[in-house]
Amino acid sequence: MRIDAAVRAARGRLSAAGVDTPGLDARVLAAEAFGVDAAGLISRGGEEAPIGPLAAFEAMVERRAAGEPVGRILGRREFRGLDFALSADTLEPRPDTEALVAVAVAAVRSGTVPGAGPDGEGLRFADLGTGSGAIAVALAAELPAARGIATDMSGGALATAAANAERHGVADRIEFRQGDWLDPLDGWFGLIVSNPPYIETAALAGLPREVREHDPSRALDGGRDGLDAYRAIVGGTAARLLESGLLAVEIGAGQGESVSRLFSRAGLAEVAVHPDIGGRDRVVTGRRTMMRGITASSG
Ligand code: GLN
Repeated sequence: MRIDAAVRAARGRLSAAGVDTPGLDARVLAAEAFGVDAAGLISRGGEEAPIGPLAAFEAMVERRAAGEPVGRILGRREFRGLDFALSADTLEPRPDTEALVAVAVAAVRSGTVPGAGPDGEGLRFADLGTGSGAIAVALAAELPAARGIATDMSGGALATAAANAERHGVADRIEFRQGDWLDPLDGWFGLIVSNPPYIETAALAGLPREVREHDPSRALDGGRDGLDAYRAIVGGTAARLLESGLLAVEIGAGQGESVSRLFSRAGLAEVAVHPDIGGRDRVVTGRRTMMRGITASSG
């Protein structure tokens, strides 16, 4: 069978299985199996598919047809232009989450994060529930002088995150610590970020099977109202955020108001909601202030 015929057959198989993007997924898996890039897949389409790679390709296509996401099949996912290894203990990084990194990096670059220069000089950041390490590693890569601590309750996730930090040359600037949210932290931070679980428990069963069956449920399940993790995080920040320090969290659809309210009630100031690339509310930020009364009366 020719390579292009194999890709066409795969697209048909994935389409019949109800996959959203059958052509794209078939091409990405084929490029991996045949060891070529997108251009090579086209220029070499007329070649006979070698038997080993063809069998590997067909096995990958069957996994995709059974609902496994492409990133899980490849074992890696791109985030902010970097490749991240995944494991069973890590959420697959989403393009939506890039907005969180963008907001945090922009704040540092604009000089509004206490103690931090534009490249993160002097910055101490924390990433809570780091998973694959995508957020912490991207921050360290984009702010080449920043240092941070990344926490996770899962030892397996931390091992994957540490390997990802190593792979991108930032392992000397991120420390990985096991525990819940802020528990493993000590000292003070100019920036705290997190993409915590935020799906309401009752909504988990209705997620697409790509998510439901392949992302770890403890990275998704935000409790009865989806806000459990935000309560834990917001409650702990007073003892860890520097004056004017920034807390930035990812939120789910429709959570802008409820998470903003949690921030405000905890005394965080300048609370704001930011959109992702799709224009949906995706990030909530707030700043620690010890002069709440003054901020309130002057603002
Ligand atoms: N964005 C993920 C989803 O929609 C959820 C990630 C999370 O709970 N932090 O499946």
